[in-house]
Amino acid sequence: MPELPEVEYVRERLHGWLRRRRIVACTIADARLVRPARVATVERSIVGRLVERVERHGKWIRLTLDDGRLLFVHLAMTGWFELAESEQALRHERARITVSGRPHLTHVVYVDARRWGRWISSRSDTPTWAHLGPDPLNDTVDPAALRSRFRRSKSRSIKEALLDQTLLAGVGNIQATEALWKARVDPRARASALGDKQVDAILRAISWSIARTMADLARGERGKEDPFLVYGHRGQPCRRCKTALTHIILGGRTTTFCPGCQTK
Ligand SMILES: [Zn+2]
Repeated sequence: MPELPEVEYVRERLHGWLRRRRIVACTIADARLVRPARVATVERSIVGRLVERVERHGKWIRLTLDDGRLLFVHLAMTGWFELAESEQALRHERARITVSGRPHLTHVVYVDARRWGRWISSRSDTPTWAHLGPDPLNDTVDPAALRSRFRRSKSRSIKEALLDQTLLAGVGNIQATEALWKARVDPRARASALGDKQVDAILRAISWSIARTMADLARGERGKEDPFLVYGHRGQPCRRCKTALTHIILGGRTTTFCPGCQTK
């Protein structure tokens, strides 16, 4: 499931493929992608425009076009972008943007097996984008501000608080699981009860975890090796203290952690 590092990887690729290129065609094959907007309306709103910027905040990507229009993209569970060599549809293709090329046209294809992804064409920022918290890669996160937001979420566990995109944007189940292990913090600990040192340690651990995943992505397409130390490793010995990793459900999400050393 794409979280901040994967979405940043996709953004970098889109930046290379689309920036300063003119959109000569757009085909949205899956109406669900743009619902409740109409496919034809979204297609018409972007064809003919030049792509000025490709940005990311949290798990959202925002394309800015030369008439000021914005295209927001969320990859959700299984969304991804690929280049297509020809007009032939790719497996799980949901949409395609064709841009003028040097010397050929470039077909940028959106694929999505589970079909939970979203495209929103808009004249201004969507409420979802506007309400995102700071992005741990792009922004300087103020630990004091984060602590006071944690304190307001009285009974919530730190694991659930980290998944709240309005507190911190881009962290999902994987990055939160890895970071809490690195910071030695029990995922069940109440977010409001954490001390300054622990919040600082969690923020450092999030940066560490994001950097690790990004380095893994930079080495090539994901899938050959499991880059995670804790996520998906239930039952295996903790790398730090050798206790068997266990898991619990918090906020409806599976959380793997080490009962031996995640005790803060
Ligand atoms: Zn351990």
